[in-house]
Amino acid sequence: MLSETVGDGSVQPLISLPPAGTRDPRPGLSGVPMTQLEGWLAERGQPAYRARQIADHVWAGAAQSTDELRTLPQSLRLELEDSFRLTTLGPPDITPSDGGLTQKALHRLDDGRMIETVLMRYPARGWRKARATACISSQAGCAVGCPFCATGELGFWRDLEVAEIVDQVRVWRQWLAGVGQRLTNVVFMGMGEPLLNVERVLDAAAAITDRARFGLGARHITISTSGVLPGIERMIAAGPTYTLAVSLHAARPELRDVLVPLNRRWPVAEVVEAAREHSRATGRRITYETTMIGGINDTAEDAEAMAELLRGDHAHVNLIPMNQVAHTPWSASPAQVIERFATRLRSAGIQTTIRWNRGQEVGAACGQLAAERAGEPPAPVVARRRQLLVEASAAALRGERSHEAVPSGVGD
Ligand code: SAH
Ligand code: SF4
Repeated sequence: MLSETVGDGSVQPLISLPPAGTRDPRPGLSGVPMTQLEGWLAERGQPAYRARQIADHVWAGAAQSTDELRTLPQSLRLELEDSFRLTTLGPPDITPSDGGLTQKALHRLDDGRMIETVLMRYPARGWRKARATACISSQAGCAVGCPFCATGELGFWRDLEVAEIVDQVRVWRQWLAGVGQRLTNVVFMGMGEPLLNVERVLDAAAAITDRARFGLGARHITISTSGVLPGIERMIAAGPTYTLAVSLHAARPELRDVLVPLNRRWPVAEVVEAAREHSRATGRRITYETTMIGGINDTAEDAEAMAELLRGDHAHVNLIPMNQVAHTPWSASPAQVIERFATRLRSAGIQTTIRWNRGQEVGAACGQLAAERAGEPPAPVVARRRQLLVEASAAALRGERSHEAVPSGVGD
């Protein structure tokens, strides 16, 4: 479903995708906690060490079905096959870009829905070791409907299961093992709003950091949110020191209402306060992401408002030139405008980095491939959407507050 979430605030399907296929009821093995697996084995009279053997297969092996787990007795393999799936994702459709440093992938879920991931590799530079970051999805589609985001255009299909999230990480870990490299970071910056699927995202992060499984350090996992306040509070209560990234885009409430529609439910000042609380609780610096849109959120006034909002915080701002999305009237801010914006923030004492290449990479994980597959919506509907966005952003720049409803599916 391609949705329209601006204008009168109602979500109108523009393109109807075929209905989703039936779901496989068997949970994915990678999402099953070790204690639960040990319990399942004990019920079948199997020793606890088998859980470790199974986890080793899941994380290190290349087997596609439990039937291939040859270190296990055949009767156990058959029972495993009946109860669990070794992977929840179909074989990925991988496209390299950026001279092979970036790999984009489309993955098919059991019901036929498609999700996207991206692998970004950064070679060693000076004292910095080589890094490889997997950008993964938390939902199929997204209900928030930010108008510059391809996933926002697609609308919301469903939350991902724990194993569907973990299996994205396994795909890239195994791909990297094939070229002799390690996965060093995981960022929830693909499709979906992670904190609208917060329990499964936290369970998936726990699986990825579990020493008996992948064992990635918590601080190497970044959870990016468009500002789901209760979700940030839940992250603080959960405890682990994951890195929090907040997609800010605008400090002025009337403009943020247009760029991030859930600002009307959870206002930016409260979101920033919750992010400060997360920083105090974890000792971690907060990252703020801002997509730079020409003539919309890149003015001197916006820079001042952002500097004022974040003054004195243990924060880092990433400015990302907007990656072109088919159905918006907008494009990236010119380079010198972004430089000027950065200079203003830095002179207010706020650490700021411009991510010149990130727009392409993030955009790639943000529903663009899935949106292309969804097909082109009718031209008059696209034209109306563009017109509504022009009007809404112009009103916001005049300082007028919109009174539209929050898109359905957000925080229900
Ligand atoms: N829903 C979460 C995480 C997924 S989006 C969030 O919004 O934070 C990940 C990042 O990609 C966000 O910072 C988002 O603003 C950014 N993004 C989305 N569309 C983009 C585009 N067209 N160009 C550049 N960045 C984009
Ligand atoms: Fe959803 Fe994030 Fe895209 Fe906004 S930017 S529509 S929250 S995925």
